[in-house]
Amino acid sequence: MRSLLAFLPILLLHTFVQAQSSPTPKFTVTPLNDQVLVHTTYGLVGKIPFPSNGLIIKTKDGVVLVDTGWDSDTNTDNTRELLRWVADNLHQPVRLCIVTHAHEDKMGGISELRKAGVQVVSTPLTARKSVKLGFESPEGILPNDTTFLIGQEPIRCYFPGQGHTSDNIVVWLPNQQILYGGCLIKSVAAFGMGNLADANLAEWAGSIRNVMSHFGTARIVVPGHQDWGDTKSLEHTLTLLEKHKATQK
Ligand SMILES: [Zn+2]
Repeated sequence: MRSLLAFLPILLLHTFVQAQSSPTPKFTVTPLNDQVLVHTTYGLVGKIPFPSNGLIIKTKDGVVLVDTGWDSDTNTDNTRELLRWVADNLHQPVRLCIVTHAHEDKMGGISELRKAGVQVVSTPLTARKSVKLGFESPEGILPNDTTFLIGQEPIRCYFPGQGHTSDNIVVWLPNQQILYGGCLIKSVAAFGMGNLADANLAEWAGSIRNVMSHFGTARIVVPGHQDWGDTKSLEHTLTLLEKHKATQK
């Protein structure tokens, strides 16, 4: 008995350490209003779990997703969980998924959506790039600026120019005044530019100004990662770009 007590602090410490390094946080859904919700899933950046956002849009004719969960070609648990959440909580079929660029945080769950019979669309460029990355190809049918109606909800998909990638698009919900900026837009919580592997740093600021002139009235701007808020994230992205440029000199 005495010896077990002697070990107790070590056992407790062990449990604590396990909890501290416990893997990825759970998938979450946060409503923006009664029609639009943010889905957040986690991927690992190095060994640190990092959140990735997408939208769930409820329409009179089913659910539209913007971006899949952050999955890889071999593990699609996040998108499976997202589909399960929609089925259990919204009781509506998922009609469509729009993917906003060809990186695994935005389109890694494409095979899971296909399995569930969900149509997945993107621009032709994103479709070509997905195939190069080894993912199933979305249907590359979206023109660079297009608005369509699903269940009376207008949804505008817009390519503002290159930035995070050569193919990044934003999604605008004019009735809601909600802009989904994807990875082109940095959260005000972001301290750096993130993954620049496929970025176009020369054109990024111009693309942000283009977003500002088109969607500057947005009440809510949802970036691809971390916290969302108002249009301050657009200004913040420009500031981060300036800071990054200064460090490159
Ligand atoms: Zn990306």
